[in-house]
Amino acid sequence: MENTRCFANRFSDYKGALLPGQGAQAVVPAVVAAVDKILKNVPIDISDCDGGLYDGPAGVAYMLYHVSECPLFSEHRDAYLKTAKQIIDASVRYVDAEPDKNMRAAFLLGGAGVYAVAAMIYKSLGLADFVKPLTKFRNLWEVCAPINFLECGSDELFVGRAGYLCAALVLRQKLGIEILSKDQIKSICQAIIESGKQYARRKRKPFPLMYSYYGTEYLGVKERRYNMFICAAHGLSSVLQMLLSYQDVLSGAERDLVWQSVDFLMNQEQNCNWPAELGAIIGRENELVHWCHGAPGVAYLFAKAYLINKKPQYLDTCIRSGELVWQKGLLKKGPGICHGIAGSAYVFLLLYRLTGNSKYIYRAQRQEIPPVLKHSCAPPEHSAPCRPAPGAHRAAQTSRLPPHRGRAAAAAAA
Ligand SMILES: [Zn+2]
Repeated sequence: MENTRCFANRFSDYKGALLPGQGAQAVVPAVVAAVDKILKNVPIDISDCDGGLYDGPAGVAYMLYHVSECPLFSEHRDAYLKTAKQIIDASVRYVDAEPDKNMRAAFLLGGAGVYAVAAMIYKSLGLADFVKPLTKFRNLWEVCAPINFLECGSDELFVGRAGYLCAALVLRQKLGIEILSKDQIKSICQAIIESGKQYARRKRKPFPLMYSYYGTEYLGVKERRYNMFICAAHGLSSVLQMLLSYQDVLSGAERDLVWQSVDFLMNQEQNCNWPAELGAIIGRENELVHWCHGAPGVAYLFAKAYLINKKPQYLDTCIRSGELVWQKGLLKKGPGICHGIAGSAYVFLLLYRLTGNSKYIYRAQRQEIPPVLKHSCAPPEHSAPCRPAPGAHRAAQTSRLPPHRGRAAAAAAA
């Protein structure tokens, strides 16, 4: 039975040659045109800055920063950074005024991501003021250190501690300075580990570490409940990826626990894929193969594991994930990263960096947007990604709704 979530891949596989006409000469004008189109629609107003990096204008500021870092766009660098600053300044004012300090600590949906991107943009512009948003980011450490600082689940990537650690990693890489002290990182990692141990113990499961996050709709379940996600967006895989990234601050026993958990997660594979939730059986017709749920997101954990200890089983797992994405990566929800075609393409770029095999560049080239998605009359289920709602994290805090869900659903629930 054909999968209802993706277009069948009818492309032939790599035969020793990349696709022609996709070099810098073709890509640069296409990217510039896409940026222009986005900037015509992005609000630069504090009244419309909700959603953080994931769903708010701050994500556009990050996109402009990212493009401006590439030498191919040096001609546009100054203009892009200037616009990025306007957008991120409005976003910073918005999160500064946020009364819920927990919201400010969220990476993808809240203040931590906004402050991090503001620091990067300011630094690129040569402004000494980059220290101001950086200080605001650093001060969030205290907010997310308590074990249960969020009612909806304190450890995942969008709003929890894994996200905060991820932002600190990116900042260290981009700014070239230490962001948090070793003791601060250690205390956050220990909170994550203790939280995972407590939850696994409470559920009386033989899992080394396990976490819950509030969710309802992913499995079509009507009642509200906490899910033991293993996906990259809200689950175990991104939490473990962050713990591996900071394994230097862990004790020997803590490191053992993390590696046991990595292997435990590897063993949950079902035909090159992972269910969104622990113990769920993956159905063929409705199989989820995108970054937020499935192999294209979980693969990054095993890539990190392979880079650290070079054990071939982790690389093999990544490669199997890539085979599944090649079959099912042309997603009907559109071009985005979270549950779209770009998220699939990133897996091939990851595999190219791990293996050096040009096959993966070819496969990334083949992640084209199908004509049906380009057509203005495309049906809504093909053209509209399910974005999380503005204020959805706040809704999760106050009305116990899951953050990573459709804008319309959360608006209706607000
Ligand atoms: Zn998604």
